[in-house]
Amino acid sequence: MFSKVLKTYTGRANGFYRNLSQKLPEFTKNVFDVSRGNYNYINDGHIDYFRRVLGTNRVITNPEDAEKYNVDWFSQVRESSNLVVKPKTTEEVSKILSFCNENKLAVCPQGGNTGVNGGSIPVFDEVIISTELMNEIISLDEDSGVLVCQAGCILETIDNKAATKDLIVPLDLGAKGSCQIGGNVSTNAGGLRLLRFGNLHGNILGLEVVKADGEILDCLGTLKKDNTGYHLKHLFIGSEGTLGFVTKVSIQCPSRPKYINVAFLGLQNFNKALKTLKLLRYRLGEILSAIEMIDYCSMDFIKNVVGQQSPIGDYPFYLLIETSGSNALHNEEKLNSFLEESLQKALVLNGTVANEPNKVQDIWSIRENIPNGFQKVASKMLYYDVSVPLAHYYTIVDDVADYAKDISERVFGFGHIGDGNLHLHIQLKNDLTKEVKSNFDSFILEKIVRYKGSISAEHGVGFTKAKLMDKIKPPSTLKVMKDLKKLMDPNGILNPYKIFI
Ligand SMILES: Cc1cc2nc3c(=O)[nH]c(=O)nc-3n(C[C@H](O)[C@H](O)[C@H](O)COP(=O)(O)OP(=O)(O)OC[C@H]3O[C@@H](n4cnc5c(N)ncnc54)[C@H](O)[C@@H]3O)c2cc1C
Repeated sequence: MFSKVLKTYTGRANGFYRNLSQKLPEFTKNVFDVSRGNYNYINDGHIDYFRRVLGTNRVITNPEDAEKYNVDWFSQVRESSNLVVKPKTTEEVSKILSFCNENKLAVCPQGGNTGVNGGSIPVFDEVIISTELMNEIISLDEDSGVLVCQAGCILETIDNKAATKDLIVPLDLGAKGSCQIGGNVSTNAGGLRLLRFGNLHGNILGLEVVKADGEILDCLGTLKKDNTGYHLKHLFIGSEGTLGFVTKVSIQCPSRPKYINVAFLGLQNFNKALKTLKLLRYRLGEILSAIEMIDYCSMDFIKNVVGQQSPIGDYPFYLLIETSGSNALHNEEKLNSFLEESLQKALVLNGTVANEPNKVQDIWSIRENIPNGFQKVASKMLYYDVSVPLAHYYTIVDDVADYAKDISERVFGFGHIGDGNLHLHIQLKNDLTKEVKSNFDSFILEKIVRYKGSISAEHGVGFTKAKLMDKIKPPSTLKVMKDLKKLMDPNGILNPYKIFI
């Protein structure tokens, strides 16, 4: 039976914050096989130049102040770059890049630093260019729903702004309280509601970008349709700061759904989850906004590591479903008739539904607390964010669990099943070593190739997956990517060691 009563959890309220007290990882260059490129070293003359352009307060050279810019959220990678610069305007970014290009200084663009593959952290002594002060919302056109802002605006802030006009930013992720729209664009972030809104290639109307040589590229259109020549903005969506530095973004915001329902369902096995998925699409089609899968081990992880229980007891699999729309009755009737049918067909064993905002958030907190718990065991965790055809979506978790049985505490899978996107995690008994990582990379890569999946569904390649690129991309594709990089950044100063090594 479905209950409407939920316990109150202490889940995320105002977004996500990185836990700065966690153990620092070893320096990246000591753990991974990587050599420094042929770049110049930063000297006092360079620092003087940045101070002249930005003033002393926006140039950080003190190692203690620089530390938070040198470690990623998941504590996988770390550097000790002692130069962080914080421009406020596009013109300042342009001056910084033009100077770095002339002086052959490597740079690392950084947004909210919530990226998962180490893309936002320098590998050696790259200059960190942080967008945290580029946080102006430039305009919001109520009629067209177009919001234009600087790249450093926090996702949650622009969504709150959109909400004032009954609009919604068509992207939502657990890190929305910290990640920035420029970082989202640069990683082509997917998130929880891609199922409803599609990806950023569809929703970003325009970008302003600074090239490696400092030239400002104005592709900041606000039109939904504009077929005049090459669509250059797409080059920068998902290019992880390797082709250009995003300074402004224009994004199409649809109407904000008025009524939201969520259901949290317990299922007996993955086969039933697949059948439920099919029924969901058939019965709820146009009002579906998210479908997330959580397996038993993920729930066990948050129970033991975060201290949060399943509101419906223990089941081998759970589905979190969200519907949203403009008519409460219509939404509720559709959801209820789906739930009845799924119970009658014995697809679903138990569940709970909610439509009050705090209870909706309580249910979402279960899903969001899985990655939040990783910080507590960061040194023992291995992360993969893969796309797998649904037929093999869970086979790969079983494969890895079997492979890892002697050295792992748990292997678990959860994620955006509605998009075929699985987050596959291995919690090891001991701290992760270079050898263990390399063995898992090879094992998972072999499975991904066999199942015709992708080694990165939505988190990008960054640094930690860069070595896998030549194993998964056909040589001709990789060559065009590298040619493009050379054309856009002949000195290779933009985010080196990322995407390709
Ligand atoms: C709890 C949690 C949940 C998450 N959930 C999701 C999820 O559901 N879906 C998802 O896709 N991701 C998710 N992520 C990953 C992460 O939040 C996204 O990748 C996000 O888009 C990164 O944004 P950021 O501002 O933090 O970028 P950063 O981490 O700072 O940077 C990411 C990459 O973009 C580059 N970059 C940043 N800003 C610019 C710029 N202005 N110009 C050029 N390059 C730039 C950086 O160099 C780096 O390569 C999650 C992360 C956490 C911690």
